[in-house]
Amino acid sequence: ATPVAIMVGTGKGAENGILIKSGEALETAHLVDTVVLDKTGTITEGRPVVTDVALFGEVPERELLAVAGSLEKGSEHPLAEAVVKYCEENEITVQPVEQFEAVFGKGVRGKVGGTLYFAGNEKMMEENGIPLKADHKARIEAFAGEGKTPLLFAKEKTLIGILAVADVVKATSRDAIGALREAGIRTIMLTGDNEVTARAIQKEVGVDEVIAGVLPAQKEEKVAQFKEGGHTVAMVGDGINDAPALARADVGIAIGAGTDVAIESADVVLMKNDLFDVVRAIRLSKAVIRNIK
Ligand code: ADP
Ligand code: MG
Repeated sequence: ATPVAIMVGTGKGAENGILIKSGEALETAHLVDTVVLDKTGTITEGRPVVTDVALFGEVPERELLAVAGSLEKGSEHPLAEAVVKYCEENEITVQPVEQFEAVFGKGVRGKVGGTLYFAGNEKMMEENGIPLKADHKARIEAFAGEGKTPLLFAKEKTLIGILAVADVVKATSRDAIGALREAGIRTIMLTGDNEVTARAIQKEVGVDEVIAGVLPAQKEEKVAQFKEGGHTVAMVGDGINDAPALARADVGIAIGAGTDVAIESADVVLMKNDLFDVVRAIRLSKAVIRNIK
């Protein structure tokens, strides 16, 4: 495209809250045939709230919440923020945590009052040798089936409770994904969340494919795989864990409300946090290319 066409296109984008950092990205976007989307914060609002508390005997609710709030205070994950907020609302006093450690894409661990606790997903529990019994698994499946993310909490080697956290799908996600399909573009949701929760969200928004339980490092690998065979891939994400995948994609698209790292790694930033702007960005690129041909 000519410099003038690029300038006009970039200006049009900016007027609509679509910041395109390079002329190259604007040109490439018209070739996109695959759009990979992160779930939390991209397809969903990313402002999850605690909806349920399940207890498994031994530890009373306020004690579970105190541990949960204390541990999650050290995490920057949106799920952790939901837990901290819920504890504040319920006037739970958090305690200091020793030997805190965040395990990327899985959860957190640390000592509260000298006892070791774990918080996270099933992988986190598995890795730390915490057995999940039939009734635990039944609750996990039930929450996940409602599209909620189950956060598991363990005291040493015993599961003590599950907090279910739900995040609403953004108002325009379904329409945006539908418009991408109409344009002949394949859509894939990539998430570190569990399969059942991911499937429930898929039903709501209609993405073609879902890849669940991916670790942060695997998001980049997946994007590389989708590029094989000459496909042009756009990746849309908001989190620190999305940054390498955004950089790897032909067109990296960050949600404006996302983390700084995601924004820095992307070619395009959606200032209105609206997934429909992915469609608009691709249309804009097509218009720019059409004008110069
Ligand atoms: P997504 O790809 O949906 O943004 P992440 O890769 O950030 O998800 O996280 C994957 C999963 O790891 C979460 O769904 C959650 O089960 C677990 N997890 C990550 N961080 C935490 C945390 N601080 N507390 C509890 N669970 C966590
Ligand atoms: Mg995210």
